[in-house]
Amino acid sequence: MSSKNEIRLALHELGSLSERLRDEIIWIMRVEFEPIVRDAGMVLRIIPAIHSRGDLNIDFDSKSPPGKVCRTVLGEDGTGEVWVRAHREMRVCGNANPLTGKRDRRRLLTYTALLGRALANCAIHELGHFIADLYHTSQTQNYMQTWGPPVNKRTLRTQREFWGGHQSFNAEQRQRLVTQLKKREWSGDPISFH
Ligand SMILES: [Zn+2]
Repeated sequence: MSSKNEIRLALHELGSLSERLRDEIIWIMRVEFEPIVRDAGMVLRIIPAIHSRGDLNIDFDSKSPPGKVCRTVLGEDGTGEVWVRAHREMRVCGNANPLTGKRDRRRLLTYTALLGRALANCAIHELGHFIADLYHTSQTQNYMQTWGPPVNKRTLRTQREFWGGHQSFNAEQRQRLVTQLKKREWSGDPISFH
C-alpha cells in the first residue's frame, strides 16, 4: 500500500532489457516526472516491479512484434503499454532519394541513450493520457506530440531528434497533471469514468 503522500510508479518487465538501458529509462523518468509529482506535494517512488502493481503502471513489452516497417505504432494509448521492439526497429523512412530511387531505412535508435530517451518519452506520453487524459498536440518537443516529422523532412537527424530528443509538458498540461496527482484520480483510467 502507498502512504498518503506517495505515488508509486511501477515499471514492469524491465528485466528483459539490458542493465544500461534499464538504468537509463529509470533515470530519465525520475528526472522528468519527479518535479511534477513534487509540485503536487507528493513523493515519487519508482519500483522496477515484477508482480506488484503501483498507483501508476508502465509495461515495457519486449515481446509484441514491431508493426510494418515505416508504419509502426509504439505503444497503446490508455493501457500503459510501451512496445520495445517497435522502438528498436524504427527506421528513417523518408522520401525515396530521386537519384537512387531508394528510401533511407536505417534504424534510428541505435544507441542506449537514444533508445532509453525514446522509451521514457513514450512512457511519459502514456502517463499523460492516463493521469490527466491529455490530448495529442502538434507542438514539437512536447510529450503529447505524435506522428513524427512529415515524410519529406525525415532524415536520420530529424527522426532522432523527434523520437529520442528531450521533451516536456507545457504549463497547462503540467497543471492538469498536478491537479490529478493531488487528488490521486486518474482521468484516463476507464475504471474511474463515470
Ligand atoms: Zn497518445
